[in-house]
Amino acid sequence: MSVVERGAVLYPDLNASYPVAVSASDSTIRDDQGRDYLDGCSGALVVNLGHGRREVLDAMHRQSEAITFTYRTQFTSAPAERLARRLTDLAPGSLDHAFFTNSGSEAIEAAIRMALQYWQERGRPGKQLMISRDGSYHGATLGAVALSGHPARRRTVEAVLPAWPRAAAASCHACPFGQQRHSCALQCAASIEQEIVKAGADRVAAVVIEPVVGASGGAVPAPTGYLRAVAEICRTHDVLLVADETITGLGRTGHWFACDEAGIEPDLMVLGKGLSAGYVPLGALLVSEEVHRCLRDGSARFTLGHTYAANPLAMAVGEAVVDYTVRHQLPERAARIGAQLTRRLRTLLAAHAHVVRDLRGAGLLIGIEFVAPDTDGGGVEVRADQLVAAALRRGLVLYPAGTGTVQRTVLVAPPLTISETDVEVLLHRFALALEDVIASQTVPS
Ligand code: PMP
Repeated sequence: MSVVERGAVLYPDLNASYPVAVSASDSTIRDDQGRDYLDGCSGALVVNLGHGRREVLDAMHRQSEAITFTYRTQFTSAPAERLARRLTDLAPGSLDHAFFTNSGSEAIEAAIRMALQYWQERGRPGKQLMISRDGSYHGATLGAVALSGHPARRRTVEAVLPAWPRAAAASCHACPFGQQRHSCALQCAASIEQEIVKAGADRVAAVVIEPVVGASGGAVPAPTGYLRAVAEICRTHDVLLVADETITGLGRTGHWFACDEAGIEPDLMVLGKGLSAGYVPLGALLVSEEVHRCLRDGSARFTLGHTYAANPLAMAVGEAVVDYTVRHQLPERAARIGAQLTRRLRTLLAAHAHVVRDLRGAGLLIGIEFVAPDTDGGGVEVRADQLVAAALRRGLVLYPAGTGTVQRTVLVAPPLTISETDVEVLLHRFALALEDVIASQTVPS
């Protein structure tokens, strides 16, 4: 269906035409032409439980018969209280409180506001800067874009964004310091400290990081020791640490939260995407006891709020998703299937080693980066947009990633529930799509 017709829905690519999705179950989406697509990236790393999961649908149905809307200044609801309890029981450290939103971006905005208000209440109103990192993505609202080290997303709004400092990316496959993995002195972590010192710690409110960089960098795990070093730097300089686990939270990386693996306890944690697994819009900000206490006992109300936040329907979905994730041990499953899939992809890509730059990731968040063409324009080029389009023609949905003008990374991140049979379908269609792209560039001799 074309979106250029009058009365059509506007999607970000104003000239694109999309297949019309009509139904889905497990890891498969079907369109109105009867074609099926293996959802190789869970939409946008969202559909952790797969489509049409009966337990979630039943919970939605039950809740919709009871009550679907409450307003945040008037009522709480049983599913909201239960979900807050479940999440804070699962989360690391003293993240003992949950503030609900409708998206990851809204939760990021809440994190920014809470960090600022926290320091005001602590009598240090000069702490107003948020430090993030190059190559990051934290959402589409202005505060979230201001944090994002993603040039293409910033371009049209740069002039109105607050000028917050950015530290270097922690990406071993393209180390900004030219160092080698495992043998470096973590200059990437030191660069966060340098930014704090440069700005003056008395002006810095928080450091915001994705523990595993998701859709911008393309599934980039932090180097060993990095997250602990950053947590220590934040503690030393009296700066809050915000972990953006919008993609990584709820099991995707093989742990409930990516912070768990590193053993760090952030002051604020942002959740979204997998929290509702795509069944309704939902995000959350988990808040430490210290930040909560300071705001609760402070002089001002925390005024941020969105009309639909914590609506009982979304809360019931979140609760059903958490229940399902616990019952089916999905973080462990993501670790196991992720390791298998990564091994199989490595074997598959070995036949095309000349076009592959890197294969990386954590659990079922896998990034495949392709080489740039030779400087003289020679060699075979596999761009993310080409591979994504070829995959769609072969019945596989992949997600393009990267912050450059040309994206060269695709994400493979199927539902955490993907069956072994569907893993085979994914690999088969991926191989066909990659061969299609390579063949389209090879001049017959
Ligand atoms: N943070 C990260 C790390 C994300 O990847 C995203 C979305 N891709 C967001 C925040 C924003 O989430 P949403 O699109 O739900 O607003």
